[in-house]
Amino acid sequence: MAYDIRTINTVRDRYPEGGRPEVWKDTSQKDWDSWIWQQQKRIKNMEQLEKVIHVTDDERSAFQNSHEMFNMGITPYYAALMDKDDPNCPIRLQSVPKGGELVIAPEDMEDPLAEERDMPVPGITHRYPDRVLFYTTHNCAMYCRHCTRKRKVADPDSAASTNQLEESLAYIERTKSIRDVIISGGDPLSNSDDRLEYILSRLRAMNHIEVFRLGSRNLVTLPQRITDDFVKMVKKYQPVYIHTHFNHPKECTREAFDACARLADVGCPINNQMVLLKGVNDDAKIVKELNHKLLMMRVRPYYIFQCDMSQGISHFRTPVEKGIEIIEKLRGWTSGMAVPHFVIDAPGGGGKIPLIPNYVIRRDGKKWLLRNYKGGQYVYNEP
Ligand code: SF4
Repeated sequence: MAYDIRTINTVRDRYPEGGRPEVWKDTSQKDWDSWIWQQQKRIKNMEQLEKVIHVTDDERSAFQNSHEMFNMGITPYYAALMDKDDPNCPIRLQSVPKGGELVIAPEDMEDPLAEERDMPVPGITHRYPDRVLFYTTHNCAMYCRHCTRKRKVADPDSAASTNQLEESLAYIERTKSIRDVIISGGDPLSNSDDRLEYILSRLRAMNHIEVFRLGSRNLVTLPQRITDDFVKMVKKYQPVYIHTHFNHPKECTREAFDACARLADVGCPINNQMVLLKGVNDDAKIVKELNHKLLMMRVRPYYIFQCDMSQGISHFRTPVEKGIEIIEKLRGWTSGMAVPHFVIDAPGGGGKIPLIPNYVIRRDGKKWLLRNYKGGQYVYNEP
C-alpha cells in the first residue's frame, strides 16, 4: 500500500470536530492559515496555555521561574499538536517549560559554541574561511526549550538593528573569501518578506557569494509562513538551501508537508538538523520513522546534533553513546539517505566533530578487517 503522509498527523485528525482545539474553534480558516495571525496569537502565559492542555504543577512552576530569562511562545498550530493529557508528549517537551530548565549544571556555558568570540562585527560569526553565520533577528515563531542560543533568542534588545544589518552586509561584501552565507537568528523567517528580499538581493549581487542557507524552524512550528509570495521571492535568488529542524515524527504534518513541497517545488534543497533530546527522540525507532517521513517530504536528514552544553538544557542531554547507537541502528538497516551524520558541535568553537560506530576490527598493514551492519566480518586488501 502506498504510504501517503497526507493521511496522517494532521491537526484535523487530532481534533476532528472543529479541526483544532476548542479555544480556536471559531477562528476562521483564513486566520488560522495566516502566519501573521499565528504569530500574534502565540501562547505566552499560563492562562492561555491552560485553555489548550492540562498543565502540570511542574510546568506551572517552571514557567513562573523561567519566563523572565527565556520567554514561552507557542504558535496555535504547534500547540494544537500537543497531547493535552501527557506531559511527556514530545511536542510539549519542546515548547512548555519544565523544572529541569532551572538547573544549571557545573559544565553548562552561556555561549558553548563561542559564537560571540569569533565575531569580527556584531551579527556575524566568522570561524571558517569560506562561510559565515549571519544573525538577522533574534525572534522565532516558537521558543524551543532546548535552544542553544537562549542567551540571545527572545531578547527584544538583541535583535539586529538596520545599522547592524548594514555593517554585517558590508563585512560580507569586503571579505572575498566568503562563498557561503548561513542566514540565521533566531529565525530569519521572522523577518518580513521585504526585509528578507533586501538581504538576499544584496548578497546575490556580491560576485563571491555562491550559496545562501536559510536556517529556519518555521517549517515545523509555523508552516503557514511558507506562502506562495515567499517562495516566489526566494526563487529569484537561487541557489537557496533551507536548513530546518524537525525533531519528532509528530511534527511531520500535512501542513509541514505542504510547506516543504512549496519550497522544494521552487528548487530549494531542504536539509534537516535534528537535535538529540532525552525523552523526545532518543530512540532509534523514532529517528528512523522521522527520517522516513522527512524523505517523503523531500527533506534530507542531514545532522543529528548532540545537545549542546548551554545553560538550562542539561535535562535534555543524552549520553554520547546514544547518538552512536542510533547511527548503528540506522546504517545498513535503512537507505543511506535516511542516515544523517551524528556530530558534536565542540564546546569552545571547535566546530562539528562526527562520531560514528567503529566498523574497523583490525588493520594488518594493507589488510583491513571490517565488520558490516549485521556483524559479518570482511577483509579488504589494499593494492
Ligand atoms: S527556532 Fe532555533 S533559534 Fe529559535 S528558539 Fe528554536 S532552536 Fe532556538
